[in-house]
Amino acid sequence: MCFTDGSVTMMVNVHEIPYFGEHTELTLSCRECGWRKTDFLAGEDNTPTKWEIPIDIDTISARIVRSSSCTVRVEELDLEVEPGIAADGYVSNVEGVLNRFISAIRMLQRQALEDEVHEDASKCEDYIARLLSSMSDENSKLTLVLLDPMGNSKILHQTARKSTLAEEDAEKLSTGPSIPILDASDLGF
Ligand SMILES: [Zn+2]
Repeated sequence: MCFTDGSVTMMVNVHEIPYFGEHTELTLSCRECGWRKTDFLAGEDNTPTKWEIPIDIDTISARIVRSSSCTVRVEELDLEVEPGIAADGYVSNVEGVLNRFISAIRMLQRQALEDEVHEDASKCEDYIARLLSSMSDENSKLTLVLLDPMGNSKILHQTARKSTLAEEDAEKLSTGPSIPILDASDLGF
């Protein structure tokens, strides 16, 4: 990003996840300007993938590997986060992903309150309340969905369902940052 030659280092960690195969964690960082980037690559299979998991008290700790090309949705609430141009990959769990939604909605809510759009602010409150209560539900009413056109994301839980995304659906999705351009074959895996 700062065009300094020879200032970028790359760290590669290969995690072996039982029953899910290998997952590669990449971290690039620049010691000149402090730029940093983390991402995850699936070991073997890169077909466009959809993962779904019901959200309830039994699934909130399910592990989630979200790559930088992954769109995250809470289906029933029509909430969606698309990967932006600076998207990082992260490892979290269902609760952590929902908390990211909640902080984003709180930001919108603060803005709505500043602008005195009280109707929007109370809509935000409804979304937050539904997300919070879903995490203690015995029976799930909401579904968390990961859509990854590069197939690098995963949900690690026995109730998670994996399916292949149709090509025309995969093409409509954002693929996240174009810098750095990396895939497993560049690294010799
Ligand atoms: Zn730099």
